[in-house]
Amino acid sequence: ELNAKESLYIVSQFAADFFQEQLTQTQKGRAIGLSYFKERGFSEETIKKFQLGYSPDEWTALTDAAIEKGYQLDFLEKTGLTIVKEEKKFDRFKGRVMFPIQNISGRVLGFGGRILTSDKKAAKYLNSPESDIYHKSKVLYGIFHAKKSIVAKDTCYLVEGYTDVISLHQSGVENVVASSGTSLTIEQIRLIKRYTPNITILFDGDAAGLKASFRGIDMILEAGLNVKVVLFPDGEDPDSYARSHTQAEILSFLDSESKDFIKFKTDVLLKEAGKDPIKKAGLIKDIVESIALIPDPIIRSVYIQECSSMMGMEEEMLLTELNKSRKQKI
Ligand code: ATP
Ligand code: MN
Ligand code: MN
Ligand code: MN
Repeated sequence: ELNAKESLYIVSQFAADFFQEQLTQTQKGRAIGLSYFKERGFSEETIKKFQLGYSPDEWTALTDAAIEKGYQLDFLEKTGLTIVKEEKKFDRFKGRVMFPIQNISGRVLGFGGRILTSDKKAAKYLNSPESDIYHKSKVLYGIFHAKKSIVAKDTCYLVEGYTDVISLHQSGVENVVASSGTSLTIEQIRLIKRYTPNITILFDGDAAGLKASFRGIDMILEAGLNVKVVLFPDGEDPDSYARSHTQAEILSFLDSESKDFIKFKTDVLLKEAGKDPIKKAGLIKDIVESIALIPDPIIRSVYIQECSSMMGMEEEMLLTELNKSRKQKI
């Protein structure tokens, strides 16, 4: 069993090296893949650090190279690098730029591959399937490069995508990971908890990002961690923001825009509710429901106080509501 796993790690590292070599050492790879990354503003140092690569636009480039080197087809198939269908084999990531996904100790477990054409029918990102070494709900993209900085800053920024992690790194913000390819899971939160109790959510400035932020807040609170949120301007994500601002601007934006979850929820929901008293009551219940998820009673009461002063509501009233919500959970 152990040996079988080891074989999957080894073939994954072979693939990462192969994709990297294609990107930097071949004419097509440079013309297509490398120029794509450069247009996105990634430096050579960044490309190397994240072992970015290119999977040739041929049916079996990786598969052939691996078999030639003596790797068994079985392992290529188990990692999902090769798809075998009716006796035919082909490369899963054909024609994509490649983002290797590493575990906390830097071993490659799987890949994300981004399409380069604007073909609306094909998925923009394709990820490795689940395997004996890759469990997407337990992995955070970027954790290997981020862990030291997460401990040093005692905060972890949580973003949506590969490119958000990479661009922020290049801008000097290294305490950042992405839940790439899945919506945030409890296992991912527990992984962050090993390094810090503080998470700041930096999701995309669109409806999906907003919705995911609300879900993320509740999951993080329930896991007993502290959560803040930065809302990006409409249509921006951390990558696009980092690309169009200087490092100093990014740092000050993150610093000044990061809001306590109560302040964040209030701001967003109040905008929707306006002066409508019934909607405002709904907002207060919504926030109290989030507070009710916090396991620690002292932290709960601190937030109830904050909510009370922000909303001009008596604490007593909020506590009654809080207890109702906690009872419902049990
Ligand atoms: P880019 O800037 O390259 O267009 P992005 O990271 O901003 O990409 P989003 O559309 O914001 O892309 O999606 C966030 C993340 O969700 C991606 O980085 C990827 O991990 C995942 N994702 C997006 N689209 C797909 C898809 N079609 N299939 C699987 N995962 C996807
Ligand atoms: Mn998005
Ligand atoms: Mn995005
Ligand atoms: Mn983006």
